Amino acid sequence: MSAPLESLGQTEPRPTGPAPHFEVAVVGAGPAGLAAAASAAERGARVAVIDAAEQPGGQFWRHRSEAAGIRDDGSLHHGWKTYLDLRRRFDSGVDTSRITYLPRTSVWMAQRRPQGFTLRLSSSFGTTTGPSTVHASALVLATGGYDRQLPVPGWELPGVMAAGGIQAFIKQNGALPGSRFVVAGTGPFLLPVAANIVEAGGSVAAVCESADLSGWLPRAHRALAVPEKGLEGAEYAWTFVKHRIPYRTRTVVTEILGDSAVEAVRTARVRRDGTEVPGSARTIDGVDSVGLGWGFTPQLELPVALGARTRVDVDGSLVADVDAAQRSSVPGLYLAGELTGVGGAALAVVEGAVAGRAAALATTTGTDGSGAIATAREARTISRQRAFAEAMHLAHPLPPGWESRMRDETVVCRCEEVTAGAILGARDEMDAADSRTQKGVNRAGMGWCQGRVCGVAVACLSGSAPQAKSDDPMISLRQNANRPIAQPIPLGDLRDLVD
Ligand SMILES: Cc1cc2nc3c(=O)[nH]c(=O)nc-3n(C[C@H](O)[C@H](O)[C@H](O)COP(=O)(O)OP(=O)(O)OC[C@H]3O[C@@H](n4cnc5c(N)ncnc54)[C@H](O)[C@@H]3O)c2cc1C
Repeated sequence: MSAPLESLGQTEPRPTGPAPHFEVAVVGAGPAGLAAAASAAERGARVAVIDAAEQPGGQFWRHRSEAAGIRDDGSLHHGWKTYLDLRRRFDSGVDTSRITYLPRTSVWMAQRRPQGFTLRLSSSFGTTTGPSTVHASALVLATGGYDRQLPVPGWELPGVMAAGGIQAFIKQNGALPGSRFVVAGTGPFLLPVAANIVEAGGSVAAVCESADLSGWLPRAHRALAVPEKGLEGAEYAWTFVKHRIPYRTRTVVTEILGDSAVEAVRTARVRRDGTEVPGSARTIDGVDSVGLGWGFTPQLELPVALGARTRVDVDGSLVADVDAAQRSSVPGLYLAGELTGVGGAALAVVEGAVAGRAAALATTTGTDGSGAIATAREARTISRQRAFAEAMHLAHPLPPGWESRMRDETVVCRCEEVTAGAILGARDEMDAADSRTQKGVNRAGMGWCQGRVCGVAVACLSGSAPQAKSDDPMISLRQNANRPIAQPIPLGDLRDLVD
């Protein structure tokens, strides 16, 4: 029987003995991972679900702390009913021991073995008593993505966050990381962030969208094919009207101002080619928080480490290839959610269901899982959602000319404090035309985040990325995703590494 949500917060990792073996391991308990786990377990596989977070839900359904006994009413969420349904199925798998759930646990390395996969685990925070290694016959990766960032003068000031970071803060804590916000970047994602801020009691001085939205016109039919997105958009429009949130298209933040923290924001209107419209500059005073978001970057370390075939998607992201059963180019490895292309939670759920089903079929019947390809209905949903995502990416590109708003002293890599001048200097004088060479020359992307925050900017600036002039945009993007240690870990985890 499924336990009530409140009690499921006490999710101490279940000790499972040294290096246990599972038929299917799922990494990630977001929309894609939850669907994969439920689907695999319901088809009789023994499943391990490993997730870095404290509770299931991933980014989209990040919610109030179950461990603290707080029941989230879902008011800040879309698709909450879908989550509750998935969660019930997931919990029932845990209750019947079909699913072994390892929260607060990061997979920092994945290796392919003749019999399947070996995953190396580390506590993502606090301590865990779970295993440090698990083996699995089939592996479903559903590790999602993170906010894509572009530098702007002043973005290192306290009070500047990724737009997704602001939303995550609100969803998880039920509190605001500031009081008066500017939200800037591109894409429909800026809308829920602003809506969440006002619903949580904050104010939004402006939402600055760099695109002019005309990119939607030739693709309106793709938007109409996903009516639920239109409905969501209408809800946000109403929230914007109700709370008088100014929504400014073709507008960018040119500088963030403040002595020791954010105090004000400079904005300007831009033309299609990215140049500023003369006389359009304005300063918004009395701002203490800025959220920046330029779409999302799939978290591809594990698929890349395992050798999965990748490609550059229309939004300029490196994504992994899959077939109609969510199989990657690596036998036994299935991928779902943002890893196959940034496309949202609804798409992630369907892909996860297919991946989990195929992985279970492969391991329980000794086949390759191809017999579990998406049903006609699933294939239609995937295709509609993908078409919508593509339209969204094309209508909200990285704005041309963003590089020109930086100054020589603008910090691009915040971990290692590498400036735009240093990166451009290395490119021009030392032929540092890709991320890896930049790392060697000036340490850009070498710090704690390993290029997760600055990677896109360094790749574009050094000249080997989409929107730049390179022959091969894959070079820098693959270099950024190629992190043999997928997550930061304590040195002790390396010391304890045994085969
Ligand atoms: C901060 C943020 C906010 C977002 N807000 C919205 C929104 O308001 N509206 C919207 O439509 N879309 C939003 N999105 C996009 C949406 O979240 C995704 O489309 C959707 O969640 C994708 O589901 P997923 O299962 O692929 O990945 P996710 O939901 O990202 O789940 C991935 C899971 O994998 C885990 N994980 C990752 N790496 C490892 C590892 N090495 N070891 C163990 N666990 C790991 C993470 O802890 C996470 O729980 C947001 C994305 C982000 C990053």
